[in-house]
This record gives sequence, structure tokens and C-alpha cells, in this order.
Amino acid sequence: MQPDRLSELSQAILDFRNERDWQQFHNPKDLATALSIEASELQEIFLWQNGSELATTLQSKRTQIQHEVADIAAYLLLLCHELDIDLSQAVLDKLEHNKAKYPADQVRGNAKKYDEYHTQD
Ligand SMILES: [Mg+2]
Repeated sequence: MQPDRLSELSQAILDFRNERDWQQFHNPKDLATALSIEASELQEIFLWQNGSELATTLQSKRTQIQHEVADIAAYLLLLCHELDIDLSQAVLDKLEHNKAKYPADQVRGNAKKYDEYHTQD
């Protein structure tokens, strides 16, 4: 059986980590913190920008954005590995949960949080 692409990616990241003996630093708390920091680094690229300036940044800093997205994915996969979470299954499970929480026929075109539109008349 051929491993799926996500498993290959996870193994490549684990190999990178293990070759450097960094597993000792990768407890779930610190991996979650690193994930959050990398997400903030992505946000920092766009901070205070809107309109044409934001559009320009999206093009001119594409490589930097790609690097930060990769950092986020790497820490997420490492966190899932440490917590024995099947990321693909977790996403599918959460999607089913969200389908029930946000029925398409009730929320289409509405960005309100689930507890706001249920109270609407
Ligand atoms: Mg980074």
C-alpha cells in the first residue's frame, strides 16, 4: 500500500527533525506555541495593509508567504504526530461537525457565528 501524500510529508518532517535531534524540544505545548508563532509571522506580512497595497504584497512576498505557510504546516504535522492525531481524519470529522453546526440552507452567505444566527427571528 502506497502511503498518502500527507503521511509522506509528515515522515519527511520527522526525518528532518530526528536528524537534528530536536525531538527532545517538541512537546505538545511548545509545538502548539511554535504553530501560533508561525501563524503570527504569516499575519505580520499583511499587517496594516488593505486594498492595492495588500494585493501588491500578495504578489511581491509570495515566497515569504509560502515559507510561513510551510512552517505552519510543519508544526501542525509535528503536533499531530506527538498527539497521535490522524490529521486527515480529524479534518473530516470536524467538517462533519461543522456541517451540523452551520447548516448550508441556514447560513449561506452569512458570516455570523453559529450562536448568533440561531437566535435570529
Ligand atoms: Mg516562519
